[in-house]
Amino acid sequence: MAPVAAAQSAISISKKGFVPADSLFKLVYVPVEVPPGIAEIRVREIYSNQGKNVLNLGIYGPEGHRAGTTAGFRGWSGGAKTEFFLNAQEASTGYVPGKITPGLWHVLIYPSTILPTGIDWELAVTLVPGADKQGAFAVSPAPAAVNTKAGWYRGDLHMHTLHSDGKRTPRELVDEAAAQGLDFIVSTEHNTNSANLSWGKYAVPKLLIINGEEVTTTAFGHWNAVGLNPTTLVDWRYTPQDGAVTQCLAQVHADGGLAIINHPFYNKELANGFKFAVKDFDGIEVWNGKWDFLDEPALKWWDELLRAGTYKLAIAASDTHIAGPSDSRLGIPQTVVKATGLSRTGIVQGLKAGRAYLIAEPRISLAFTARAGSATAEIGERLFAAAGQTIQLAFSLVNAPAAVVTLCGDQGVIATENVVSAKPAGLRWTVKAGSTKYLRVEVRTPRGEMVALTNPIWLGE
Ligand SMILES: [Zn+2]
Ligand SMILES: [Zn+2]
Repeated sequence: MAPVAAAQSAISISKKGFVPADSLFKLVYVPVEVPPGIAEIRVREIYSNQGKNVLNLGIYGPEGHRAGTTAGFRGWSGGAKTEFFLNAQEASTGYVPGKITPGLWHVLIYPSTILPTGIDWELAVTLVPGADKQGAFAVSPAPAAVNTKAGWYRGDLHMHTLHSDGKRTPRELVDEAAAQGLDFIVSTEHNTNSANLSWGKYAVPKLLIINGEEVTTTAFGHWNAVGLNPTTLVDWRYTPQDGAVTQCLAQVHADGGLAIINHPFYNKELANGFKFAVKDFDGIEVWNGKWDFLDEPALKWWDELLRAGTYKLAIAASDTHIAGPSDSRLGIPQTVVKATGLSRTGIVQGLKAGRAYLIAEPRISLAFTARAGSATAEIGERLFAAAGQTIQLAFSLVNAPAAVVTLCGDQGVIATENVVSAKPAGLRWTVKAGSTKYLRVEVRTPRGEMVALTNPIWLGE
């Protein structure tokens, strides 16, 4: 894609300013008056100590720019770009093509890192006059369903392309997902729906592409909206104190979607960086990219909530930003979901019900079932057993390395077993009904890296 040819009469506007060090995370809206007859807007951002300073970038049209709403939104590139264009047909990745309505536009600049010396900034705006070309941009969403076959489906719930800070095209992402044998992917760009508007152009027959967004408030944490309508956009411009997140979560749930807390511990201080109330969210990404020391406290937090009676769906996702091998390669780790079909509603309902397990690599699979008399339950389901009744558990693991399998309940570890690599491992345990409210399994290498993790099977009346 290319910007429209510049007419000689293009209007150049320069806006300059300074962000002092005490203005971290303060939104700055720079007004730009756009006269009638403009076909394209181009913006270039220049600022001091780029790299050490970070001045995120986005734009709103004359329809509005009020925080907590999405009216007027025309794109966001965060710290990933310092220039963009948009016209009726095309736009830079992260931005939304469409008519350039005359009126007062606002470029949003948002400092997320500031040196003590502050940030000197300039916006060089070019307004290109002309008539709109034929064939305005049309939304082309991915199909909402691939099949209606019930089964376990493998997916990755967190990823980025050039539409935010990823380094790959949408086409490259889809091709890699197909090559990795994934059944579904969730598109989660930072604070923009620009990728979701065009997934239909890249869809391949067997891969389900689910619309999502990584709602990114740098100051208060990141969360994924999963299972959105293609044109839905969720705003990020609020604090935990002002309560606006409630209406954004309602928006996600109105679309039938889920809100999942991402990588809650993502800095070396190992502090929980997620500042919104956990009770309002549906799940926690306890495993982000290749298992490391930052996932350990996330799992511990999830487990403590669970033991205290607050269940959140656990998911694993790559948060991949680049194509090919890396510590956050697409599909590593992944979440396997039992669904009524490979469709947006099927997958989201399976996740909502907790019918999901988490694995380190694409080839691993597992099964975990509980039986009491003639009643059975698997992951995410409830086994009805009278207190004192014997519950028989069966756990099997395929294609896993040598590992330590741990059965956990609300009082902690119930049993530990070693399994040998390459052979399908079948384990059996018995527990008494009433001894725990749920059962879940963790599989780790002897060095402690996670291989697989299940959501709970629930016990009791
Ligand atoms: Zn994130
Ligand atoms: Zn991410």
